[in-house]
Amino acid sequence: MLKEKVQQAINDQINHELFSSYSYLSMAAWCEHQQFTGCAHWLRMQSAEEYGHAMKLYDFLIARNSRVVLKPIAQPEVEFQSIPQVFETALAQEQRVSAQIDDLYELAFHEKAFAALVELEWFITEQVEEEKTTREVVHKFNMVKDDPASLLDLDREMANRVAESPAA
Ligand code: MG
Repeated sequence: MLKEKVQQAINDQINHELFSSYSYLSMAAWCEHQQFTGCAHWLRMQSAEEYGHAMKLYDFLIARNSRVVLKPIAQPEVEFQSIPQVFETALAQEQRVSAQIDDLYELAFHEKAFAALVELEWFITEQVEEEKTTREVVHKFNMVKDDPASLLDLDREMANRVAESPAA
């Protein structure tokens, strides 16, 4: 069984991942409302990925004979100014999650929770990818600015995102 402190921190991270999932779902709804259905599709997929991250930690706690303690999920933002602002919010969120994972890794290291360290390595690698992908999207939307034709092209491109295989 994991030490109480490590269990609590992993439960907190489950909450952060679920908030992240919830937040992407809220962004997706806003995009749908603005008729940017490609962006909405991309964000829904991202929401599902974040749910997967929460479940990966959930399964890890169970595998370590530890308690899963779910907490309330905070309300995400519901109003956005523009499509670029949606993805800037997403990037800031990913950077926040990366910092949370780093803190959790540091705690597990300090507590000599070696199995947790191995599990968390996957998350560290994943966050590098998440930040990179989101940064690229922010950059593309900032390039096209308000040009309607380019925005529609980009929205169509966002519609092409396919689901990744579940977290290994
Ligand atoms: Mg995540």
